[in-house]
Amino acid sequence: MSKSIDIVRSGILAPIKKWGTKWSLWPVHLVTACCGAELAHAFASGYDGERIGALNYGIARQTNVIIVEGAITRKMAKVLRITWEQMPDPKFVIVMGACGLKGGLFWNGYHLVRPSEVVPVEYFIPGCPPTPEGLLRGIRSLQDKIWEGKEKNSIEFKKVELERRKIERKIPSPPKIVAKNPFIKIDVPKDVDWTFGNKLVGELKENLGNLAERITITGKNRICIKVNPENLQKVAAKLKDKFDHVKSVNVIDVTYDNSFIVEYVVSSYSDKELMPVLVTIATKVSKSNPKLPSLHKYWISADYLEREMQDLFGVIFEGNPWGNRRFLIDPSTPEYPLRKDFKLEEEVYVRGDQE
Ligand code: SF4
Repeated sequence: MSKSIDIVRSGILAPIKKWGTKWSLWPVHLVTACCGAELAHAFASGYDGERIGALNYGIARQTNVIIVEGAITRKMAKVLRITWEQMPDPKFVIVMGACGLKGGLFWNGYHLVRPSEVVPVEYFIPGCPPTPEGLLRGIRSLQDKIWEGKEKNSIEFKKVELERRKIERKIPSPPKIVAKNPFIKIDVPKDVDWTFGNKLVGELKENLGNLAERITITGKNRICIKVNPENLQKVAAKLKDKFDHVKSVNVIDVTYDNSFIVEYVVSSYSDKELMPVLVTIATKVSKSNPKLPSLHKYWISADYLEREMQDLFGVIFEGNPWGNRRFLIDPSTPEYPLRKDFKLEEEVYVRGDQE
């Protein structure tokens, strides 16, 4: 058996095998970001990548090239690895774009990994985005490599020895002089002519009474209700019939106040007049003990939105069925990456000859 394999690999049949592999590159494309559009361009009628023997394929088990198109997050890294492991040998990986090389515009992101740390990469196609010509050149180079059985080929990047050093984790110290909190006054914008809004605010004031600190029209079809955290659930209970879903849950990190503003944006799918209206229920919670009651029992769509905010900011929504578990981001990701004081461990790159 092994003798037969040797004949195919390096014996009399090797040229046929090489020829077959060279002209049968079937890339499975991992579109994670905008580079995918360039790949589409490379294989559309203009460039017609298929004419050089590469046909994009959708099933990992029958392909032999992965083209990574864009940023790879910690979560996606597992998918990349599993896809690669499912592919039969011989298999190759091409990475497109600055994001895949070193993170690109997300280079200091909390969630990024480099594909080359997950799978062996044959070629990087630089650029943001790389051009279709660049991708096709990468594929041609891979074909050359397969044919010649060599490690090097026509694309040769200048090799610079880089040493990776770690320095202490540093979080910028808070400024010594803090500007006074700006006075923020929310008025009805002059150019908003919204009769229905005025009527709605009147109804809300009557319905909520003292539960709302303030109800303001902030723009056409936009109303903001400011509430204390202890009244949040009571307000939700009163609004849930009129507004049937939560569109988004947002957290604003107010550093000078050591607090978070938590907003629920609610609207209606069932009342035609209310459909364009977005009502923001805003409350403030201390950053040292950021806990709020969950509103998922009033609005089911608040459930996963709260989980995201819990993952990213560390605001605990007590009563959310997910509990304290992480939902959105991989468990290996550092905690609360969207807080303003979050900072990744810094990396310093120096050229060996410049020390
Ligand atoms: S390298 Fe540029 S074009 Fe490609 S995925 Fe990243 S941001 Fe998008």
